[in-house]
Amino acid sequence: MTSVQPKIFYASEHGIDPSLIDPDALYVLNKLRDAGFLAYLVGGSVRDLIVNIKPKDFDISTSARPEQIKSLFQRRCILIGRRFRLAHIRFSHKIIEVSTFRTGENVDQLIVQDNVWGTPQEDVLRRDFTINGLFYDASNHSIIDYVGGWEDIQHRLLRTIGQPEVRFKQDPVRILRLLKFNARFGFDIDADTAQAIETCHREILKSSPARILEEFLRMLESGASSRFLRLLAHYGFLNLLFPPFAKLLRTAHGKKIFHYLSCADQLHHHKGQNVLERPVLTACLLFPVLEWELERKYLNNKKIPHIGEITLEGSALIKELLIHSFSNFPRRITSSALAIMVGQYRIAPLSGKRHYRERMFRNKEFEMSLKFLKIRALVDEKWVDTYTSIRNQYRQFLHQGEHRHKHSPNHKENPR
Ligand code: ATP
Ligand code: MG
Repeated sequence: MTSVQPKIFYASEHGIDPSLIDPDALYVLNKLRDAGFLAYLVGGSVRDLIVNIKPKDFDISTSARPEQIKSLFQRRCILIGRRFRLAHIRFSHKIIEVSTFRTGENVDQLIVQDNVWGTPQEDVLRRDFTINGLFYDASNHSIIDYVGGWEDIQHRLLRTIGQPEVRFKQDPVRILRLLKFNARFGFDIDADTAQAIETCHREILKSSPARILEEFLRMLESGASSRFLRLLAHYGFLNLLFPPFAKLLRTAHGKKIFHYLSCADQLHHHKGQNVLERPVLTACLLFPVLEWELERKYLNNKKIPHIGEITLEGSALIKELLIHSFSNFPRRITSSALAIMVGQYRIAPLSGKRHYRERMFRNKEFEMSLKFLKIRALVDEKWVDTYTSIRNQYRQFLHQGEHRHKHSPNHKENPR
């Protein structure tokens, strides 16, 4: 590979706010540099810093080999992955991922391990989009750009690194990632890249269902889930990945589902990142349909379904819409999503009778049910009072719990 000189952009030009950089990431970068290695922030965090968003995680690329990283960070560090070893540096509430510069996918599986390591340039050329291919050198606050990512961010343009068709065929998950960035940042898609989405459309079925699901769930959490789902439907991916759900979205329910998601997105923007758990977001995809089914099968026939019947309806919907598709939603998500939906009818029973609240508050899914009720209150004002009152009762319940705990004979103020 011919090496090219990168473009360098200094602080006066890029204007990154250094306070957005995690001090623990800086600690890791400095320690690696002090030991004589190259070490840069890379990928999504650099992109987010340039567009002035606080990054949710900080990835680091370095010339240090995994064993060298391990010996530098000792017990803080665990090495993961078999073929490509990565280092996780642990801090109390987070992990900083550190990976050694490596080359791209033309690497033959049989090549001895040493050959997979690469130069900084090779390390960015294997990445997906130019906007994700920048380094940030914290030692002199500069951006190092081998791929034209800086200009693309300025022009708000999404472009693959290398030939789009080739890159999408190598890893079709990149197409979903592209739509995610399109939804999230509103950047345009470069013409060649857009063309390749059409050409490589069906390639998506060759990728790993688990990775597809992970990207799908991440987009639900992204704060732009409603826009992303529209794009996924528009380009025909939803039809390939979740056919029954895609069909449902084209009906009147679709509108409601988009509405739930855009309210969830609103909460996300309001509070920052990942305030809504995956089951809460999954419930947004299903609840409008559940309500409709209950109305059609029960309420319209003057019957009131009991909790057991609601649970059965909910699990049938989950099976029909999110399981038996290309990527199956895992049980740990669907069972909580079901509990959240059923929880709505415990909070506000269709019979109008009040349930014993304390028991409901003790349910491990209750907090997620409450968050979902908040989304419902955004979707429809008629739930605002219920939400406020239940939330206040719950706070009081927690407060009393703390009080009880403090005054229990076993409680010691300062155990140490
Ligand atoms: P997010 O903000 O959603 O985390 P991200 O760009 O940081 O977006 P990650 O999945 O955290 O996404 O990946 C980190 C980096 O790894 C990306 O910025 C990109 O450089 C590279 N990357 C991730 N997935 C791929 C892929 N499928 N092909 C090539 N490079 C990838
Ligand atoms: Mg990331």
